[in-house]
Amino acid sequence: MTDAFDAIIVGSGAGGAAAAYSLAEAGCRVLIIEKGQPLPKDGSTLDVRIVVGEGRFKNHEPWLDGSGSPFVPQEYYNLGGKTKWYGAALLRFGADEFAADAAHQCRGWPFGYDELAPFYEHAEMLLAVRRFDIEPDTAAIVGRLQRVASAWRSLPMPLGLSPAIADDPHESIRFDGFASVRGLKSDAETSLLDRIRDKPNVRIVTGAAVAALCAADGNARRVVGVVTEDGERRDASAVLLAAGALSSPRLIERYLRDSGLADTLPAAKNVGRNYKSHLLTAVIGFSVRQMRDRLRKTVVMTHADFPHSSVQPLGATDGEIVATEMPAITPRWFANLVGSRAYGFFLQTEDGSHPDNRVTDDDDSGKPRLDYRQERIAPARDEHRAFVRTFARHLLRAGFLPVVKPIALEGTAHACGTLIAGSDPFTSVVDATGRVHGMEGIYVVDGSVLPRSSRVNPALTIYAWGLRAGDHLAASLAASQVTQQGELA
Ligand SMILES: Cc1cc2nc3c(=O)[nH]c(=O)nc-3n(C[C@H](O)[C@H](O)[C@H](O)COP(=O)(O)OP(=O)(O)OC[C@H]3O[C@@H](n4cnc5c(N)ncnc54)[C@H](O)[C@@H]3O)c2cc1C
Repeated sequence: MTDAFDAIIVGSGAGGAAAAYSLAEAGCRVLIIEKGQPLPKDGSTLDVRIVVGEGRFKNHEPWLDGSGSPFVPQEYYNLGGKTKWYGAALLRFGADEFAADAAHQCRGWPFGYDELAPFYEHAEMLLAVRRFDIEPDTAAIVGRLQRVASAWRSLPMPLGLSPAIADDPHESIRFDGFASVRGLKSDAETSLLDRIRDKPNVRIVTGAAVAALCAADGNARRVVGVVTEDGERRDASAVLLAAGALSSPRLIERYLRDSGLADTLPAAKNVGRNYKSHLLTAVIGFSVRQMRDRLRKTVVMTHADFPHSSVQPLGATDGEIVATEMPAITPRWFANLVGSRAYGFFLQTEDGSHPDNRVTDDDDSGKPRLDYRQERIAPARDEHRAFVRTFARHLLRAGFLPVVKPIALEGTAHACGTLIAGSDPFTSVVDATGRVHGMEGIYVVDGSVLPRSSRVNPALTIYAWGLRAGDHLAASLAASQVTQQGELA
């Protein structure tokens, strides 16, 4: 392939890989530029000591919080993005979760569920989403919770895991928060990039971070390329930002500031705002009995009194994991004893949108800043607190001693909302096709666009958005080529 590209995609996580897949299948010449490298296949991505203890694969770059204190967001910069590490719970949002919910400070989508439904279906097919048998301990816990309170509902969890994982004693307990070595998890690399990487119209460059966007000569409203940190420039008809909800807004913010558009483009004042990441809490229940389930994440539960919240099991919490949370002198037999009786849960509540909850690069210190306060989204904070209290109380009555661990600002796993999609340029950043309002050649295809993040995990919706945006862009690129050919004839 020559160096002429129809589309440059910045980042290779859920949104970037999905858009790349659509564009490549439509015959567009696609360049994917990924900041990180492919993960090793030597077993280190499944090693608790390396992944959890040492944190070898995580981001180590410090950010500042709203009051200027440093913290390190738990981001992952590698081919496939955070999907290499995710728990592969691949759920659709509910149809009602596309509408605004003013009482919960939630904005509406620029289109309804039906518009995304075919792309959900396509994503589920590509990611081979399936339900697994519910294992005995999990079935018993759900049954006991439902006997404590009949308002608990449970559904089988749609998972992007190969059936073969159930027979792999190691990978079946190390997929949530770990990266598969055998390709048993449907992630952005395995399920999407591997399908297109050998096509003649696709190029993937890794270990190259995009540092800036490039404007057309004399027209700052038209983006025509990118420059990577090593100074190399690459051009294309369209640039698609898929660097994740913490990175994509900072690339646009810098461009708007340097080009002077920050003062004139109505959408500019919304860039980086409305950050959402779910309110998250881990609850570990300790039993007197040994827990033997391996997959665990086979159900998702909701409670009738908490419409914006859900709970799902965490992947296996065994002695090796428990040891990383205990003082180094703790004997391993003790960690194993505790771990074998532990069962973890992940509680999430959709957070509202607030313009002051924001990501920005514009800091005198030169460090990125994430200003996020739960007081600004009091309805979500109050629902989450009550949900956690109710779950912990019911878990105790179901025979487990609960230990509650709120997930702090560092927990950016579900980051989204910072380049919000909407119809009005004065209140949103991108339109319903992902194009930045008031600009040409620049699109957003990652979790940044999500106006709402629902009560469940976001990745399937990001994949679906990426597939849809890629389809729209491929059609518009084809139409403009026809027009250009007509003008030349
Ligand atoms: C431990 C964990 C468990 C999770 N479990 C689930 C789950 O079970 N279900 C679910 O739905 N979601 C889950 N998630 C969340 C899910 O992984 C994310 O929502 C999803 O990956 C976000 O997709 P994205 O495309 O927005 O960004 P990412 O997947 O983060 O991709 C962004 C990519 O851009 C690259 N990049 C960043 N900056 C640049 C730059 N300047 N130049 C070039 N490239 C750049 C990054 O390296 C990365 O590869 C989990 C996340 C984590 C961390």
